[in-house]
Amino acid sequence: MYEFNTKPFTAADYLIHLKDRAFRATDIVENTFNVIEKLEPTLNCFTETCKEQALAAAAATDARVKDHTFGENNILDGVPVGFKDNMNMLGTNTTCSSQMLKNYKSTYTATCVNDLLGEGALPIGKLNMDEFAFGSSTETSVFGPSKNPHDIERVPGGSSGGSAAAVAAGYFPIALGSDTGGSIRQPASFCGVIGIKPTYGVVSRYGVVAFGSSLDAIGPFARTMQDAALAMNALKKRDPKDCTCQGADVDFTTVIDGNVKGMKIGIVKSFLEAEGLTTEVKHKIEEAAKVLEEASAELVEIELPNAKAAISAYYVLGPCEAFSNLARFDSVRYGYCEEGHPDLATQYEASRKTGFGDEARRRIFLGSYLLSAGVYEQYYYPAQQVRTLITQDYKNAFEKVDCILAPASPRTAFKFGEISDPAQMYLSDMFTISINIAGNGGMSFPVGNGEDTGLPVGAQLIAPAFKDENMLRAASALEQHYGPAQIAEVE
Ligand code: GLN
Repeated sequence: MYEFNTKPFTAADYLIHLKDRAFRATDIVENTFNVIEKLEPTLNCFTETCKEQALAAAAATDARVKDHTFGENNILDGVPVGFKDNMNMLGTNTTCSSQMLKNYKSTYTATCVNDLLGEGALPIGKLNMDEFAFGSSTETSVFGPSKNPHDIERVPGGSSGGSAAAVAAGYFPIALGSDTGGSIRQPASFCGVIGIKPTYGVVSRYGVVAFGSSLDAIGPFARTMQDAALAMNALKKRDPKDCTCQGADVDFTTVIDGNVKGMKIGIVKSFLEAEGLTTEVKHKIEEAAKVLEEASAELVEIELPNAKAAISAYYVLGPCEAFSNLARFDSVRYGYCEEGHPDLATQYEASRKTGFGDEARRRIFLGSYLLSAGVYEQYYYPAQQVRTLITQDYKNAFEKVDCILAPASPRTAFKFGEISDPAQMYLSDMFTISINIAGNGGMSFPVGNGEDTGLPVGAQLIAPAFKDENMLRAASALEQHYGPAQIAEVE
């Protein structure tokens, strides 16, 4: 019997050892739950685990091993995975870490979840997040925050903090998150793992609770580029159930060979001079640029003149879309219902008051105000114009370069309670938000620890729309230098 705990398994390892019959998929589930039992009281990554479903999927994998069809049509056969809890999966609740949906049972399964399960992956559970994906620390979760496995006094980032922490802690090699303004890339950076936000429209949003429908993207967390590429291959299918999802035609496992010879990498000077960027993160990004240059890529200075307006535009567009998406949680058709009110109007008011936390309410108020007559023209309309300018900036830049290198987050993980001013928290995404606004791909790759805090730093790679392979290729060159992500020692 293989010694599970001595080695951090990647998806690729699991596939090899299952094929060799070193262990069974059922053993993987048992072992995964042993690790979870040990660490979960400290880390709080899950909103719910689903061992029964994992064991059922494992039995199917084991049957395929027996009849020699293992892995044939299943690229993640027997690989344990987790899903952010805004993704519907039959047999589990989908809570969005909110009181509003605390008891909501999924009535169907999201396409992204099906994409992995259909490839033979084992569903271990649903992962903690900021309420309705509003936030950068998981501190707004009704289940309490997840902890950063590298330092449990610090946040894992957010909103997909549970997903990032679970992969960093070694629960499983792949987890899914969602990213509306940075919620995959920022927690990946804080937890020292890989996090990919594909181009808008590569991965289906069907069955994922909507935050900002024109900004939301689904993507994987992983520790190696090989695993990240496998996950991308599983997720990249066109989905007739999401009319914005056209998928991608690339085999992502073929582009991660570390070869960036002649590749043009854009460096955004204004990003590296931005107020709020810490020196240690700046140094790491400059170092990553050198690594790419030494691997024969060409560095090209570029400008994104309108990117500085991205946060302002996002905090108009995001809340407007969130306000309209969250209207359905009305205590009548959906969501938490406070009983004992004389009529529906008071029930509605009371339920939305208790069902939503402060940050969710703040977004709803903001969105409803910004979309009101007279105000709309002053804020929403110009924000859409800014969106066009930012999109054009990226288009212009990508005429000169194949990929852009930037910080993922201006700083390393902060302590719980350290940032209490919402406007300060919003700056966490200063380098990621413009990518959601333009719709192209972005990812964070861990480039070691900062010289001052000793905590993980993520380098962000940004790709032209529907050319996500460019950023995966550049990241694979970084991986050859820095090595894959390390599992955190939880103390
Ligand atoms: N932190 C940003 C926000 O609070 C982005 C969140 C996200 O990407 N889901 O809106």
